[in-house]
Amino acid sequence: MAVNLPDLPYAKDALSPYISANTLEFHHGKHHKTYVDNINKLIDGTDLEGKTLEEIIANSAKDPARAGIFNNAAQVWNHSFYWKCLKPKGGGAPTGEIAAKINSTFGSYDKFAEEFKNAGTTQFGSGWAWLVLDGNDLKITKTPNADTPLVHGQKALLTIDVWEHAYYLDYQNRRPDYLTAVIQNLINWDFVNSNLG
Ligand code: MN
Repeated sequence: MAVNLPDLPYAKDALSPYISANTLEFHHGKHHKTYVDNINKLIDGTDLEGKTLEEIIANSAKDPARAGIFNNAAQVWNHSFYWKCLKPKGGGAPTGEIAAKINSTFGSYDKFAEEFKNAGTTQFGSGWAWLVLDGNDLKITKTPNADTPLVHGQKALLTIDVWEHAYYLDYQNRRPDYLTAVIQNLINWDFVNSNLG
């Protein structure tokens, strides 16, 4: 069983103008695909061959000698999760269970949006902004490089990729503008709610 590159859950031009087809062509078709190709090469012939992606991540996270395996496996997982966090005509204030949790934790959707954008803006260098469940607590976090909530005992609910490859073709250095556009127009709250279940 090889690790697979999942199809995008929408057409490549569906997130335009906030994320262009050109960005998705490179981000999914080149960057994400390269992580998939790398992990399959790295586990070939090892005890990790045939394991699930989550098992590969859990195993390699504890072993400094397997940093390359961890980085590629976690990047595959993070990207597959990120695509599902986006949808055309998404974003804005949520509904359902996550709306109530956001209001009780952060005070309001606007306060949440400000803090989530701030996490993505202040992640120095490459990484990810997250909304997670830590036990029963809703938290905003950020992780560097390939690091992922899976290995910190947290349940991922929502992420935005803040590696430069996620936004540079559309926004150049303006990471805050990319974060605002995604938060206001693309977050798939139905997916976030489904992660609470
Ligand atoms: Mn990426």
